[in-house]
Amino acid sequence: MASLYLHIPFCEHKCIYCDFYSVVPAEAGEAQKPLTARFLSALELEIRARAEDARFQEPFETVFFGGGTPSLLQPSEIENILNLLASRFPILPDAEITLETNPGTVDRKKLSAFRSAGINRISMGIQSFYDDDLKFLTRIHTAAEAKQCVFDAAAAGFKNVSVDLIFSLPLQSVERWKSNLEQAIELQPAHISCYSLIIEPGTPLFSMVQSKQVTPLDTESDAALYELTIAMLASHGYRQYEVSNFAKPDFKCRHNINYWNHTNYLSFGPSAHSFWKNERWWNSSDLGSYIGQLNERRMPVSGGEHLSESKLMEEALFLGLRSEGIDIEKYRRRFGVDLLAGNAPFISELIQEGRARIENGILKLTATGYLVCDEICQSITLIGRPDTP
Ligand code: SF4
Repeated sequence: MASLYLHIPFCEHKCIYCDFYSVVPAEAGEAQKPLTARFLSALELEIRARAEDARFQEPFETVFFGGGTPSLLQPSEIENILNLLASRFPILPDAEITLETNPGTVDRKKLSAFRSAGINRISMGIQSFYDDDLKFLTRIHTAAEAKQCVFDAAAAGFKNVSVDLIFSLPLQSVERWKSNLEQAIELQPAHISCYSLIIEPGTPLFSMVQSKQVTPLDTESDAALYELTIAMLASHGYRQYEVSNFAKPDFKCRHNINYWNHTNYLSFGPSAHSFWKNERWWNSSDLGSYIGQLNERRMPVSGGEHLSESKLMEEALFLGLRSEGIDIEKYRRRFGVDLLAGNAPFISELIQEGRARIENGILKLTATGYLVCDEICQSITLIGRPDTP
């Protein structure tokens, strides 16, 4: 099984915290329509060219439109892309097909049309139910519009709706974050993602922090909000299946699970990263260059790496622990490394501290383990790594 990702590189406005690649056509002095048309022609060339390679003809079980703001595209444009993909790749009939959607870019009619076009999952960038938070984050929508968008998605027939929220905003109180979670839960989405605000270098928010215009929330408060998130969502039936992701039964995001399981994925569009067997490559993070290269019948790849067995092993450890755990026996068979034998005292300590558990042969982190997932991964020794002495 494999996955397909499409990076749609347009936004109406660039949010201050965002480091994903996207362009705002108006700010680039371009009209949206012709630029979108040029991008879509290039995307078509890329899809057709990739599909020529017989290596990539394996069943695809998810398609994900991310960005950027894919909901800025017209439903007919999404439908054309899906039809082209289906004519070139073996996409399973029950594939999960997600569209990232921002409130302020859709209404009920447009959402209905996306559904008719083949989208069956909506991932909505809400971030907060407070207008002043949204203003601070420079989002284009209000809290009322965000709620309306969730109602519209339900009215359009979407059962699988995910809501994204951001916590640890500067000066955010426990009460305010709690109220955000309550409002999200009240809307009853099938899936909720909660991300701690990261101050990414190169963003306007980073400069604001550097110039002391903004003070980030301290680590202890961040941890307290995270623990509250896990407890509240669990008590309302949202099962945590990754550091930032919570789902009602049967609504885990299959696309993301594939990423975390090291499943093959092909990606299209500027800045998109692909992974196949033990190769990773990525496209140019510049829309002009992406379009230009494809028009000259060159693939827009700007870099790549071969993943050694050792690197794959490290990634599998990290990806497994930050999501649904590591099947110890499968890991041993795949890499020849016995995680338990090589780390017995450390793992028993984690279990005693309540940070990990072993269930049916799967080593999993608990809620408090997720809090220190990076540190735990760094402390695990991979004895028997193929390319270490
Ligand atoms: S809408 Fe999303 S992708 Fe676009 S700038 Fe804001 S956070 Fe980034």
